[in-house]
Amino acid sequence: MRPITNHLPTAELQALDAAHHMHPFTTNDKLAKKGARIITQAKGVWLKDSEGEEIIDGMAGLWCVNIGYAREEIAEAAARQIRELPYYNTFFQTSHVPAIALAARIAELAPGDLNHVFFAGSGSEANDTNIRLARHYWTLKEQPQRQVIIARKNGYHGSTMGGASLGGMVSMHEQGMLPIPGIVHIDQPYWYLEGGEMTPEDFGLARARALEDKILEIGPEKVAAFIAEPIQGAGGVIVPPASYWPEIQRIVDKYGILLIADEVITGFGRTGNWFGSQTFGIRPHIMTIAKGLSSGYAPIGGSIVCDEVAATIASDEFNHGYTYSGHPVAAAIALENLRIMEEEGVVEHVRDVAHPYLAERWHALGDHPLVGETSLVGLMGSLALTPVKGERVRFASEAGTAGFITRERCFANNVIMRHVYDRMIIAPPLVITPAEIDILMDRATKALDEAYVQLKAEGLLQKAV
Ligand SMILES: *Cc1c(COP(=O)(O)O)cnc(C)c1O
Repeated sequence: MRPITNHLPTAELQALDAAHHMHPFTTNDKLAKKGARIITQAKGVWLKDSEGEEIIDGMAGLWCVNIGYAREEIAEAAARQIRELPYYNTFFQTSHVPAIALAARIAELAPGDLNHVFFAGSGSEANDTNIRLARHYWTLKEQPQRQVIIARKNGYHGSTMGGASLGGMVSMHEQGMLPIPGIVHIDQPYWYLEGGEMTPEDFGLARARALEDKILEIGPEKVAAFIAEPIQGAGGVIVPPASYWPEIQRIVDKYGILLIADEVITGFGRTGNWFGSQTFGIRPHIMTIAKGLSSGYAPIGGSIVCDEVAATIASDEFNHGYTYSGHPVAAAIALENLRIMEEEGVVEHVRDVAHPYLAERWHALGDHPLVGETSLVGLMGSLALTPVKGERVRFASEAGTAGFITRERCFANNVIMRHVYDRMIIAPPLVITPAEIDILMDRATKALDEAYVQLKAEGLLQKAV
């Protein structure tokens, strides 16, 4: 076979991609007709495609490349580790330095008594671990009837059977008989489209109290845990009203259930603190981490577990683990990523420089005729597209039509913004500079202008009735 390299013509790469590569979360027939955009290189916040176009990455890959692309130090750390010890397991009474050092470093960074790490290969795997951890924990506490896990509609916790079950994505549940038993969902704190006439504060309290209602409906003695993202990411960067998390914390404390904060996106600086739990004053028993842990340079995830839960689990053999739990190369990469984050003050950069600068430009989009609201926490932002300026309403068209058109205009203008239904989302690399934010926002604004013209011309600026 002829070697397949960057030097092949784009059309040839696209044809091979369509012939052999099944893309995740994609209608592959549709993509095959149009051809995938082939990304060949990246540096800092910039991607380059096979046509030589330079694209500014407003999504940090999939919310993960927090320190930016192509850091030489990470390449060095990976090469060094591969030469020294490319793999060894941690199942059978053995350990290795990268896993030890990374677990210790994470324990140092994590708040409170979150001092213990169970490693996985991804966020989905870590959430599968959490299901088993939470249920096994209660069995060891001699309350084996506590097996139900409460999660939220439109939450995202990954794509494995467990992760997708915890998630509240109807389109995922419809494929493959999900959720698995013992997982139930409550409504999300999405004030903009679901808050009706309530104030955000009252609505936040009401949606938090849905947790208490559900606990009482199931029977408090049967509930093992509640899992949620501090800010829903894949659900559309939905920032809960300020009243929401304190009320959730009160309810979790009152009924003594475990709180699992899925920090896969919000962890490692995204919200302007090391963890989103710090931004929202949440005290979880378990945190899910992945993505920014390695800035996406290697697949690695994990569960950070508090002292009491870890001590209970430690009393018995936990019949669970992954071949690549604590993989030494992935761990060495994550350690180097965390070293860079600390030495370069990346979290401080988000808080003191990038967030304030981006906030000014992002919230200015609130005046755009196509924009209904803007939110931004740290470097995690969203805006609602609206068919009618000044009203909190859905489009008459199928949900996601306006969002898809807007995303296509972004793509054409060489800026990556994602859409979730009719919300647009940004989560750029945390190291983005003010000058780069200007380029990102100039292109995003142009894309919104073009989308507005197109939606108007196609008669799509109609609200649902
Ligand atoms: C991405 C994500 C996951 C899943 O992580 P994978 O590494 O894709 O398995 C889980 N939870 C949240 C909040 C995520 O954003």
